[in-house]
Amino acid sequence: MSLILLGTRNEGKMQEAKELLAEVVGLELLLFPAIAFSDVPETGTTFLDNAVLKAKAIGRETGLHVLSEDSGLEVHALDGAPGVRSARFAGEPSDAKRNNELLLEKLLGVKDRRARFITVAVLCLQDGQVFATSGTLPGKIGHACLGSMGFGYDPLFIPDGTTRTLAQMTLDEKNMVSHRQKALSRMCGILQELIRSGDIDSSAVQ
Ligand code: IMP
Repeated sequence: MSLILLGTRNEGKMQEAKELLAEVVGLELLLFPAIAFSDVPETGTTFLDNAVLKAKAIGRETGLHVLSEDSGLEVHALDGAPGVRSARFAGEPSDAKRNNELLLEKLLGVKDRRARFITVAVLCLQDGQVFATSGTLPGKIGHACLGSMGFGYDPLFIPDGTTRTLAQMTLDEKNMVSHRQKALSRMCGILQELIRSGDIDSSAVQ
């Protein structure tokens, strides 16, 4: 089996990524906390910067090939905020409920509710090779939190072409349309090719 460490401690992201990467034949996904690694401060100014930063730091710490992602919400009427600050929009420590409340407050009386989710996924191999993919999900911000599934801004986000929020969808439904699904399904192709060609093996495990 080819071992890849998923470089996130976010339970919601782990759940989604496990499902989405299951199609890669020969891949064994290693997860936190079975493999421990430190929290990596997201000091980059773009999703790509942050995803590379996380994958490289966790790869150095663990000696494993690492797949990380950075994602967030961009709201049109807020000039793209919260963007790379999505997790910490209402301050630290990150709190989804407070983030959603702040977003509703900032959009009070605002008619233009357009927004999009973005995911940038980055795979850093121990030999220094780096691969990146991305995916977006366009939609709009609702007027109240609805639904209890998912995580983060899901209770406020209504994907284009639907009337339900992401938090009103099952994991499978969300995984059929999400920004993470798009980025990771592109990454599945890369992973499968790397495994097929023998570029990823278990030799990096210490
Ligand atoms: P980071 O990628 O760890 O910086 O965190 C991204 C933040 O963006 C999360 O903590 C959520 O607030 C938000 N986010 C990213 N993806 C999603 C999603 O699929 N649903 C809801 N919120 C998300």
